[in-house]
Formats: sequence, C-alpha cells, structure tokens
Amino acid sequence: MTAQIIDGKKIAAEIRADLAKKIEASDDDYMPVLAVVLVGENPASQIYVRNKKKAAEEVGMGCEIYEFSDTIGENALLKSLQELNENHHIHGIIVQQPLPAQINPQKVLEVISPEKDVDGFSPYNTGLLQANDPHAIVAATPKGILKLIQSCCDNLNGKRAVIIGRSNIVGKPLSMLLLNQNCTVTIAHSKTENLPDLTREADILVCATGRPKMVKGDWIKEGAVVVDVGINHDENGKLCGDVDFDEALNKAAFITPVPGGVGPMTIAMLLENTWEAYIHQKQHEDSHSCCCGKHHAHECHCHH
Ligand code: NAD
Repeated sequence: MTAQIIDGKKIAAEIRADLAKKIEASDDDYMPVLAVVLVGENPASQIYVRNKKKAAEEVGMGCEIYEFSDTIGENALLKSLQELNENHHIHGIIVQQPLPAQINPQKVLEVISPEKDVDGFSPYNTGLLQANDPHAIVAATPKGILKLIQSCCDNLNGKRAVIIGRSNIVGKPLSMLLLNQNCTVTIAHSKTENLPDLTREADILVCATGRPKMVKGDWIKEGAVVVDVGINHDENGKLCGDVDFDEALNKAAFITPVPGGVGPMTIAMLLENTWEAYIHQKQHEDSHSCCCGKHHAHECHCHH
C-alpha cells in the first residue's frame, strides 16, 4: 500500500479563496480586521506576524500590528488589550507568543474578549469546546487538523484516535474535537508507556511532539489516517515532521506531508475564525443598528 497524500496546501488555498469571495461580497466600508499584538523583537515572532498580515491582506481582510517593547508592564499590556476589546473596528485579537517573563500569559488570555479571541485559547472558548458548544472559537491548528481528517474520512463515529502530545494549543483541543465527532480518543505524552502498542491500534494517528521522525512505520496500523503536526529539522537540516514519512507511506492509507500539510491549514483557520468573529459581531451590531437603518463601523453621520 502507498498512502495517499493529504494536500493541506491545496485545501487551505481553497478555504482562503472561498473567504476572499465572501469578503469581497460583503459590506465594503466595513471589513473584517485582525489585530496582532507583538511584544518584543523575537525574530521568529516577527516573521510569523508578518506572514499572518500578508495572508490576511491577501483575502481582503484588514490586519493591524500592535507592537510593544519587551519591557512593557503587565498592566499596561492588559489595558491595551482592553482597548482593543472595545474598539469596534477590530474583530479578532491575537497575542503572539512567547511573551516576556514579566507578563503572565494566562492573564492575557483571560482579558481578551471571548468573541474576539480568534486563537481560541481563552478559558471561555476552551470551556465552550469542551461542552461541544457550536459557538466555541476553536484553536486554528486543531481545527485545521480536523478538516484534514474529514477530507479523507467521511464518518468518524467510533474510530480509534490516538494523539501524541497534550499541549494546550494542539493535543488537548484536538482531543475534544475528535471526541465531539464520536471518536474513541487516547492522548499520549512523554510519560506514556508502550507507545507503539497504542499507536498500532489507531485508525487516526496524530503526532504533535516536536521529535523528528519519532513515529516509525511499524507503529502505524495498516490503512490508518496519519496527521503529522511536527515542524522539525532532521540530521541534515532538512525540514521534517514527527513521523518517518518514507516508512509511513507503506502503512498508512492517508498521510499529511511536512511541509504542506497542517502548517498551511493553521493560517487558513485563523483567517476563517476572524471572518466568523466578524460575522458574529456584525449580526450583533445589526440588531443594535442606527436610526437610519444601517450600522456604522465608526461614527454615525445620519444626523438624526
Ligand atoms: P509542546 O512542546 O507544547 O508539546 C509536545 C508534546 O509532546 C508534550 O505533550 C509532550 O508530552 C509530548 N512528547 C514529547 N516527547 C514525547 C515522546 N518522546 N513520546 C510521547 N510524547 C512526547 O508542543 P506543541 O506546541 O504541541 O507542538 C508540537 C509540534 O507541533 C512542534 O514540532 C511544533 O512546532 C508543531 N506545531 C505545528 C503547528 C503547525 O501549524 N503546523 C502548530 C503548532 C505546533
């Protein structure tokens, strides 16, 4: 058997094209806007932020970068986030991690308004996800992983899913998404014993550990769907995932490549979350529309 490649790049491009059409067709003077908060000058963060801005602008979304010095105090940052919460022309707010030591990341997540929390990391949104509430804003990477799995698997009912990695940004939210799809979910981690015995039972195997090529061919059940979240470099400095791709090709039915699998989906899902937050907030504003029958992004000029 040679696995079929799940083309995350193509699926993400379709999602972005669809978003661009919807944005084009929507209200001209009131576009969705994402605010990206960047604290300090971490070069990797600067690249991620620039990429997010470029991707947002490509679909016709606004993207504003708010930069702060790495010496900013926690209260000052929280106050700026409150101002973004109250700013009606901003629909999504994300805070690029990592943050400097004086800032408690949990406090940052708690202050962002749940309806603008397009990273889906706030306690409120993770709670909604846990409750299987359709209003949850779901973190981009796990949301994208579920779409990739659904692209090759119509019915997830009763499927055995094993997720390696229990981080708050990937493993844990993904476990809830798959559970909500009626999978039987196991979360494995660095203290799990006999890991290959577990993974060999998985109809769906997701690896999010950051350990290059850790998952070998004989860890994989024949015909499984394998999603590789890892972004690593191998011994030759070449980009690779957590799965030994060449070995997995002979066992899996479907597999995501690295690069070109989960990565492109993450950014597409961030844009989708921002679009959905915008629609939600717009509907809310419409129900409080102005006396002239319209809503206004800024000040009303109808003089009534
Ligand atoms: P993390 O470091 O927060 O968590 C890693 C998890 O893997 C932990 O739960 C740990 O217990 C588990 N783990 C580590 N070694 C293990 C082992 N030997 N056996 C079993 N479990 C083990 O990582 P994260 O933030 O969830 O990211 C994981 C990987 O996914 C990284 O390579 C990261 O770069 C990548 N990532 C990619 C995207 C994307 O968009 N493609 C997004 C997020 C993370």
